[in-house]
Amino acid sequence: MSKQIVVFNAGSSSLKFALYDLGGDGEEALVRGAVESVGGVSRMTVTSAGRPSTETRLEAAFSPQMALTQVFAWMSKEGLGADLVGAGHRVVHGGREFIEPVLVDASVLAKLATYNPMAPSHQPHNLAAIAAMARLYPKLPQIACFDTAFHAAKPRLASIFALPRALTEAGIQRYGFHGLSYDYIASVLPRHLGERADGRVVVAHLGHGASMCAMRGRRSVTTTMGFSALDGLMMGARSGAIDPGVLLYLLQEKGMSAAQLSTLLYEQSGLLGVSGESDDMRTLLASSSAAAENAIGLFVYRITSELGALAATLGGLDALVFTAGIGENSAEIRARVCEGARWLGAEIDSGANARGESVISASGSKVALLALHTNEEAVIATACRKMLGGEVHGAGSHR
Ligand code: AMP
Repeated sequence: MSKQIVVFNAGSSSLKFALYDLGGDGEEALVRGAVESVGGVSRMTVTSAGRPSTETRLEAAFSPQMALTQVFAWMSKEGLGADLVGAGHRVVHGGREFIEPVLVDASVLAKLATYNPMAPSHQPHNLAAIAAMARLYPKLPQIACFDTAFHAAKPRLASIFALPRALTEAGIQRYGFHGLSYDYIASVLPRHLGERADGRVVVAHLGHGASMCAMRGRRSVTTTMGFSALDGLMMGARSGAIDPGVLLYLLQEKGMSAAQLSTLLYEQSGLLGVSGESDDMRTLLASSSAAAENAIGLFVYRITSELGALAATLGGLDALVFTAGIGENSAEIRARVCEGARWLGAEIDSGANARGESVISASGSKVALLALHTNEEAVIATACRKMLGGEVHGAGSHR
């Protein structure tokens, strides 16, 4: 049996996993799946290459430990993962200290926990999965890969706030997120764009969380998220950029506590807050209410205005790439964003867009328009293969 590595992406109520051969250099996982809790009911879905997906209802309440136990029980039943040599984890925040993937021990875990307040809806869950794995398999090497890393070398002006220098030096700065997704897209861009891949490219990662990254030479030049995963675009339930005066007003005049403000900004805003209906784009697109249309309209408006700012930073635009749940799957949102990008020379091919093709720009478009599937797990697998002695080719290895 070949040596294998397992990759985890842990959230508040879900644990996604993917199993890879250590010796392979492919992006495709042997199996991938998720344990998640939907409406208080836990279930596990698994997709193996060439086989239909299976879904199993689980009796236990969701926790990282429960999810990991279920994943390993299933793998062992299927004769998988017997020669596991390492586990890779998505970790949202690496701060200034952690850029390259790192082997996690207790002291690294403790340092990473100091970033919990900057990504409260992700980081504690990412770390809980690492801690649970360490309890289950204390000898197995665990490797953390960071969403902030892709943006670490962006220029200083794109990294600092207009705050007193002492605060910048204390780490109050713009980090940027969704870096594993951007790293993957950067690694596959040449397949679609040839030499233009190294030009002025904006990637729009539009999922439940959403951000955009301006790239030149396939490296991050600036991005819409900053110190925390709250900044920038409007998201499923997060506000995105907001006048900081609103926050002061809510704290000082409306008597909100910091905890209430955090819940408001992370869980009750965005598509959910504006529509009053749902944080899920599919539900809103299917709704006929004016409030749902208002939420979708604001989502698109924020993307097109940030696109203008990113294009200005790049001095023009050669390509716009859509990715993640909404970017990959919603022809309507792509069409509406591209309509707002016509002034940049972007012209969509409506047929290609509706068919879900990778290249969706019309032949005369000055801006190449692409819709590409992202694969954060493949980037983590590549990092693990490098660190654990497997093949060094693969997704995300260009940095
Ligand atoms: P992600 O966080 O990348 O899994 O993306 C989740 C978001 O993608 C949710 O808002 C979903 O509603 C949205 N999404 C997934 N499939 C579609 C689709 N076919 N059309 C519109 N939105 C979609």
